[in-house]
Amino acid sequence: MSIPDLAVQQAALAMAEALSEGGLITVSTGAGMSRESGIPTFRGAEGVWRTFRAEDVATPQALYGDPALAWQFHDHLRQLVTAAKPHAGHCALAQLAGSLSPSVRLRIVTQNVDRLHEDAGSRDVIHLHGDIRRVVCTACDFQDDAYPVPAPACPPICTCGGLLRPDVVLFGEPLPSEAIAEAWRLAQECSAMIVVGTSANVQPAASLPFVALESGATVVEVNPGETPLSPYAHYTLRGGAATVLPSLLEALCHALSAH
Ligand code: NAD
Ligand code: ZN
Repeated sequence: MSIPDLAVQQAALAMAEALSEGGLITVSTGAGMSRESGIPTFRGAEGVWRTFRAEDVATPQALYGDPALAWQFHDHLRQLVTAAKPHAGHCALAQLAGSLSPSVRLRIVTQNVDRLHEDAGSRDVIHLHGDIRRVVCTACDFQDDAYPVPAPACPPICTCGGLLRPDVVLFGEPLPSEAIAEAWRLAQECSAMIVVGTSANVQPAASLPFVALESGATVVEVNPGETPLSPYAHYTLRGGAATVLPSLLEALCHALSAH
């Protein structure tokens, strides 16, 4: 057994131990979760966003000040998201949720604006930062879950004359209150939390693992890089979500059935 396999086994055993009387597994995912599906993260040296920084174009000031530039950025991401397919990690999460005993539940809280968890078959996913495939009007109540990609104009305008926008939380905007309340509850109530592909920089999502730790949950991080959570997580599994998650969840499934 190699060292990484050993770490995976140990993390799975500790999670199963925490769940020995049943309980909740909360999975918190960030942009790194979708990287191996071909959607680059904003941060990091990937180059795709090098023409603009997300923080400059994905703000309310940018959207209303230079809507064409903000839409150019978002439409690029919308095209990547629409073309992307869930990977083995997304599928393993959906599969595990469907095969757990009734006393163990699994819920996903994501910062991602793609729908790859749902595309893989996961249900009741909490979207903290919205859904980029949905477009809403800034002036009337128009909304479209499958707005054309690419958008027909840059920026696209509603029939009412208002500016359309992707239904995402821009930097500096508040998160949907119901989603954050539910995410907080799932962090407080879980016996085990898996944190995948998030740099733990974007608040308030970054606090969720710390809420879980304070509530006594076993916290496992899956990320190829060091994050502010790494020193505090009970286990840090260094690797990509598409390879680490399937083996972690398979080991967890075995460990749970042995309990
Ligand atoms: P982030 O701050 O959460 O950072 C990405 C993290 O993913 C980093 O810690 C990195 O080490 C890790 N990572 C990289 N490759 C990985 C892999 N293969 N497996 C697991 N982890 C991996 O995210 P960000 O890029 O700064 O984005 C900020 C916000 O922008 C997100 O919270 C989200 O709302 C939005 N965003 C969404 C998407 C999407 O929907 N797919 C993509 C980019 C950005
Ligand atoms: Zn309108």
